[in-house]
Amino acid sequence: MIELNGISRSFEGAAGVQVKALRDISLRIAEGELVCITGPSGSGKTTLMNILGCLDRPSSGAYRIAGREVRTMSADGLAWLRRRLFGFVFQSYNLLGSATARENVELPGLYAGLSRRVRKKRADSFLAQLGLADRAGHLPGELSGGEQQRVAIARSLMNGGRVILADEPTGGLDRENGEQVLQALERLAAAGRTVLIISHNPKIAARASRCIELRNGRVIGDTGRRLTRTRSPEEAIPPARKGQAMLSRVLGVVGAGWNAFRAGLTRGARLRAALLIAAILTAVCWGAVVMSIGEGTYREMIETANTMGLDTIQVMPADWRPAPTGEYGTSSNGPRNFLPLTQADARAIRDQIPNVRDVSPYVMLIPLPARRGSIATPVQVIGFVDLGAKPGRGSMGYSLEAGEFITPSEDENLERVAVLEPDIRERLFPSKIDPLGQEIFIGNIAFRVKGLYQRRHIPGMLFVAGLAAHVPFKTAKAMLTSRNEIDQIYVYVEDADLLFETVNAIRDLGIRRRGGDTLRFGHMGETIQEAKKTRAQLWLVLGATAGCVLVAGNVSVSIIMLMSVRARRREIGIRMALGARQRDIQWQFMSETLATGVIGGLLGIAVALACLPLLAWFEVPFEPAAWFFAVPFACALILSFLAAIAPARRAARLDPAQALAAD
Ligand code: ADP
Ligand code: MG
Repeated sequence: MIELNGISRSFEGAAGVQVKALRDISLRIAEGELVCITGPSGSGKTTLMNILGCLDRPSSGAYRIAGREVRTMSADGLAWLRRRLFGFVFQSYNLLGSATARENVELPGLYAGLSRRVRKKRADSFLAQLGLADRAGHLPGELSGGEQQRVAIARSLMNGGRVILADEPTGGLDRENGEQVLQALERLAAAGRTVLIISHNPKIAARASRCIELRNGRVIGDTGRRLTRTRSPEEAIPPARKGQAMLSRVLGVVGAGWNAFRAGLTRGARLRAALLIAAILTAVCWGAVVMSIGEGTYREMIETANTMGLDTIQVMPADWRPAPTGEYGTSSNGPRNFLPLTQADARAIRDQIPNVRDVSPYVMLIPLPARRGSIATPVQVIGFVDLGAKPGRGSMGYSLEAGEFITPSEDENLERVAVLEPDIRERLFPSKIDPLGQEIFIGNIAFRVKGLYQRRHIPGMLFVAGLAAHVPFKTAKAMLTSRNEIDQIYVYVEDADLLFETVNAIRDLGIRRRGGDTLRFGHMGETIQEAKKTRAQLWLVLGATAGCVLVAGNVSVSIIMLMSVRARRREIGIRMALGARQRDIQWQFMSETLATGVIGGLLGIAVALACLPLLAWFEVPFEPAAWFFAVPFACALILSFLAAIAPARRAARLDPAQALAAD
């Protein structure tokens, strides 16, 4: 079974001195032997045991176990041997403190891929064999030393335990408990297992089939083989189907990570864990909310652009202000010193600029006196024909409540018709008469009311004055003002995608006709660009802050987990001794670290969903979409995955023997 040939093991001591723990040991141990290893402290017993149990490798020499050469095996290959062949019993029991007796016994089965059900069944039967049936649900801290050691023996049998290695198993026990433990080990040997016990107890030496004495790393006495084997080893462990074994293992390992995470929550580290989760929660929530607000703002601006008309360009002199009408009233606007637009300009734009469908000149006359019967009130008259109007809906946010828009033919025929905004209509028609078709006076000219506007709603604009009356441009020009110039020109384009090109062409034309760049343009192309820019800025700036919080949170998680790996070396060593592969340990720590990210991320989404409706309260526009939650959550996951790598690797790469020796 076991064949050592010239095994040596030396350690790099402090100050570079080589400590030779084992020197040139050659041994053969057959299956079914009960071997007692004795020797003074420091003679190399534990080192030998570690090498036998594949927790450590010899510095030189050859070791064959069950016909396999150990020297060339990988770390996971050694883990496989530990899982399949060995059961360990330590002086200090080495049970996981946060797991019950049954869970401790189940542990090797987890790494062997046994299903939950099989693990539990086997664990219960071994516990019963060792007289611990009623202790299965207890934590190690609730058990006596002898009971804990018997739990450890039950654990060593979980995967078959063909070779039981017991390092001073009775060292910490009183005589009676020690005796129980010894008898248990003897029974295992009698059942055909190979049992190696390190002990100073002469009684064991007397009862063992063979006694090996070590001193200064050498074998100085060996009573030789006295094989007392009577029976062949009992049942092999039930083979698990491969996929199923994998699944059980992964579930078990991830479960171990999750348990460790939960244990972390309930221990002193609760506040720390809460803070880390809060950091990730904040970042994810913040990210989702910011993206929603960015999109909401964008949508609102696009909506504005749509109500104003995407194919409309407003052209006006750079310093344009409403004109004091002079003839009809007073104005505090003061003198206007800019070069006004003329109708010739409007015609030139229509005739010379490509992509222009039509133009519409625009005058604004404020204020003029309006009158109906005995009611008199000032009115803001706009002479304009909205050529961009669609049925029921004008450009610039106008829509009709009743009646019709002013038509080009009314303009052509200088008809005296008016469409009223809500405020002026209320002033002129305070009683319930229907204003449509009624006559009002602007200045001294009678106009027929042919339409009523709804109150304009322009998103993002809090208050839109409603004191204007729209009349045909030419009517206004002919009857209401003696001014020659016009205030603005509305240009309607064929292809809205070429808005900017058209604006530039009009600007060039303006420079030529007016001798300088003195025109100002209003159009929604800018709004849309602005909207995209605003959204991008929001996403970038605020998203970056969320990212920073996320990174900082995960760096903290990583640091804390690295410290935790250091503090939990013993636990890692135990798991490795029980057959955990490096990957198992890695996944366990990965899932433990990732738990912070997953919980923080999920809570972040929940809080964001709860908070978004509150934004409406503050009139902040928002527009959630699934990926606004998915992206921050994914970022949280990816970052916590990255944060998990270093601690998990460090844990997986610990040397089993050294990890076990850690305090
Ligand atoms: P025993 O178990 O018989 O008391 P050990 O096998 O633990 O003895 O130790 C044998 C010798 O090897 C001791 O001198 C000890 O100091 C040394 N030794 C064991 N492990 C290490 C190690 N990891 N690094 C350095 N020296 C070690
Ligand atoms: Mg020792």
